Amino acid sequence: MAPALELGPQPQLEDFVREPERDDASAHREDVGVVVLAREAGGVEVVAQRGADAAHLVRGDLFALAAAAEHDAAIGAAVGDGAADRDADRRVVDRRFAAGAEILDGVPEPRQRLLQVLLEEIACVVGADGDAHGRQLYYVVLTMLPAVVISARGEERLRSGHPWIYRTDVADARAAAGDIVQVRSARGRTLGSALFSDRSQITLRMLAYGDVAADAALVRARIESAIAFREALAIDATAYRLVHGEGDLLPSLVVDRYGDYLVVQALSQGMDRLLPEVVATLAGRLQPRGILARNDPRARSLEGLEQRVDVLAGEIPDLVAVAEAGIHYEVDLRRGQKTGLFLDQRENRIAAAAYARGRMLDCFSYNGGFALVMGRRCTETIAFDVSEDAIARVKGNAARNGVAVDARVGNVFDELRGLERLGERFDTIVLDPPAFAKNKAAIANATAGYKEINLRALKLLNPGGTLVTCSCSYHVNEAAFAEIVYDASVDAQAHVTVVEKRMQGRDHPVLLGVPETYYLKCFILRKLQ
Ligand code: SAH
Repeated sequence: MAPALELGPQPQLEDFVREPERDDASAHREDVGVVVLAREAGGVEVVAQRGADAAHLVRGDLFALAAAAEHDAAIGAAVGDGAADRDADRRVVDRRFAAGAEILDGVPEPRQRLLQVLLEEIACVVGADGDAHGRQLYYVVLTMLPAVVISARGEERLRSGHPWIYRTDVADARAAAGDIVQVRSARGRTLGSALFSDRSQITLRMLAYGDVAADAALVRARIESAIAFREALAIDATAYRLVHGEGDLLPSLVVDRYGDYLVVQALSQGMDRLLPEVVATLAGRLQPRGILARNDPRARSLEGLEQRVDVLAGEIPDLVAVAEAGIHYEVDLRRGQKTGLFLDQRENRIAAAAYARGRMLDCFSYNGGFALVMGRRCTETIAFDVSEDAIARVKGNAARNGVAVDARVGNVFDELRGLERLGERFDTIVLDPPAFAKNKAAIANATAGYKEINLRALKLLNPGGTLVTCSCSYHVNEAAFAEIVYDASVDAQAHVTVVEKRMQGRDHPVLLGVPETYYLKCFILRKLQ
């Protein structure tokens, strides 16, 4: 976005001063010369070069000014009674640009010079000067906030409570990567403030609605509220999620706690820019020994952001010790999957343990989360993961906690068939695969994959046994997942009851109206006799 001064001729003083055409009181009001100069990232921009009323204030190519008439009176009042009505003037500015305008009055310079001064000034200045008839001429220079105009469909989406506006619903954008922008309707109404991305399909992530200021204080307050909520949950673990993005009205921000250490992820341009503020808030509130940025998820590349892992504060040891429901883990925060552990499954692991017994099979075990907490109640526990590294960790964690786990490297799809061929049977089986459907195109294959493992597991299960089956694919919703599991039970010729329908832990809140925040499904099922 090139600044207007580079595009057009320099404004001349005559452009700003307009002699009144009539000489009655109301005309004086209307003939107030108002100059609005706005500064955007690249330079000063002339929004209106002259104008008798608010309708002229704004060049059509900048803003559609739906409520011009409403603003006229305020301008008139400000002029009619200069000092007393400065607030009215401020209000006009505020309403139109939602920017605070600082009023500098009595600048005792000739107008020519004044204009120059104002142009050179840092934005956010309102200056007043009188003309020969004692009327006031206002020079208004203010910061033009980055702004994005969205379509009616986008507006509808916001009304439904969804915080994302896709690129296809953006009508006009005057903003740079990572800006906090004003979101406006096509008619010029301010809808709120959002994080702007110039790369992602998700152009806007709403931070606040209406005139609520989206500033550092708001971010601090949201973080504080997120932390207070976790503290109230009485979580039986020293590792849990403190901030869960949209679910905490902090879009694209993740903060996980691992004992005395914090791991943060900023997954959009806007949140990346806010990260220093976030880190300062966390450091002040929680005094962690170290804060690590696990900014290596692929989502960052969609935002044109670098994928990197950085220590942002203090120190991060190679391994951090945490506890969950009496099980002790050593976690590699730098290299572990996600931010180190699958914290979203904590409550499901603990809930599933209540049903664990006999011979147990933990499929897709990662570092042994389900196997360890459930294995304490079982006679034999086998864990499978395709990752050698994960299996090495299961073994280490099993030894550390004195739980016997037969941890094996293997592809669950092959292993389940192999076990079936051998005629093996289990009393407790866990299926916790990675997201099979990472996008819509993958739904068909994912469905087939989920059905396959659930079918095999139900066949391997003894009557009376428990199947804990999970899906963390957002694209396969709860109803679809239930359907898949039902299909698997039909093919396995098993009568299955639903003992518990669960989801991600409470520290990963689901925001109503935002299906993307409800991604993890966990059904605890019982195979009948
Ligand atoms: N249940 C774990 C989390 C599992 S995450 C917990 O509670 O912590 C999914 C795991 O599946 C990853 O560790 C990944 O390495 C593993 N995985 C992915 N595809 C696999 C496959 N085909 N067979 C076995 N393991 C697989």
